[in-house]
Amino acid sequence: MTLHVRAGVSLKPFNTFGVEVQAKAFAEAHDDYDIRQALAYSAEHALPLLVIGGGSNLLLTTDIQALVLRMVSRGIRIISDDGERVIIEAEAGEGWHAFVLSTLEQGLSGLENLSLIPGTVGAAPMQNIGAYGVEIKDVFHSLTALDRQTGELREFTLSDCAFAYRDSVFKQQPGRWLILRVRLVLSRAAHLHLEYGPVRQRLDEQGISQPTPKDVSLAICAIRSEKLPDPAVLGNAGSFFKNPLVVASLAAELKREHPGLVGYPQADGQVKLAAGWLIEQAGWKGYRDADAGVHRLQSLVLVNYGTATGLQLLDLAQRIQIDIEQRYRVKLEMEPNLY
Ligand code: FAD
Ligand code: NAP
Repeated sequence: MTLHVRAGVSLKPFNTFGVEVQAKAFAEAHDDYDIRQALAYSAEHALPLLVIGGGSNLLLTTDIQALVLRMVSRGIRIISDDGERVIIEAEAGEGWHAFVLSTLEQGLSGLENLSLIPGTVGAAPMQNIGAYGVEIKDVFHSLTALDRQTGELREFTLSDCAFAYRDSVFKQQPGRWLILRVRLVLSRAAHLHLEYGPVRQRLDEQGISQPTPKDVSLAICAIRSEKLPDPAVLGNAGSFFKNPLVVASLAAELKREHPGLVGYPQADGQVKLAAGWLIEQAGWKGYRDADAGVHRLQSLVLVNYGTATGLQLLDLAQRIQIDIEQRYRVKLEMEPNLY
């Protein structure tokens, strides 16, 4: 089938901030053949190609003069199973949370802490998605990506991906790699990570002393739903800033100045500061300017109350960055991808 390319399409339904911008051209890729056609279209019309998944990590600040290609490829399959260790593959366009739930239904453990993260499987390696002490790198096996420079397919192993805190080789080389499918190593025995944030406490409150991976997933879904705005109700892209990593001496100085400072020492000697704490202490929690704001329960999350533009959200983010740097000598880095 020929790729169905539409001109002048609103991207409002395709970014979770709900920002209104137009794509010059728009198409959906169901399989590798569609992707090849999109690349050919982009070359023929001298239009850049912007690949998106669920649009949950984007800040769109202007109309997109590109062919926007939304990944909707589907397919989940078990590649190998030795009774304990299972390698499972999913196509890039699979919804991440639905994929997590399908692994839990199959009795597999490994993804429970990554429940309810919006977006697609294909975008998950981009920033090495993480939550509650687990990152995709912890269960990663390999992935297949298309090199947009050469048109060739390339297999990436764990070490090829250069995964780091909310970072990867794919994020470092924007626009080069188009991720087609991802393989993860899951386990039939549960190896649970409960010592992060309120997970254990939530299970205890429910009287669950020996949780299953499904119990952990349900507890995390409940915690997240209470704290994070649902993009279907209030536009947002999750955490807008990464937690800054600072040298231990600066963390100690700040702790003397601000005894309540929340910081987590890292294996490399740096300290990860809770950006949400810094923003809240600076008085931004619940702040609103027209329709751009800081969420009232979670100060790391910027929200669109309806008609905020990408530039208004960016302006708010930059004001927060400047204020935090002046107060704490700490630079906050934005997490969403800016276009
Ligand atoms: P998009 O936003 O569509 O794209 C993100 C980037 O990846 C873009 O640069 C895009 O060009 C690129 N891209 C997308 N698909 C592909 C592909 N197949 N190949 C190559 N490049 C591609 N993130 C976390 O890490 N942890 C969390 O706990 C978390 N919680 C969130 C909660 C909420 C309410 C929201 C709104 C967001 C949250 N996020 C979280 C951020 C976001 O959900 C993840 O980063 C997610 O992986 C983005 O997936 P997506 O499909 O929406 O990507
Ligand atoms: P939280 O539990 O209130 O914790 C605040 C911050 O402290 C988190 O950012 C977390 O860092 C850090 N933290 C908490 N316990 C820690 C520990 N034991 N060791 C090291 N660091 C610890 O955070 P939250 O905002 O409700 O989010 C819960 C989890 O979901 C976090 O892992 C967060 O990253 C993830 N999340 C991510 C996004 C996103 O868009 N990226 C959105 C929502 C939630 P880390 O962020 O490094 O884990």
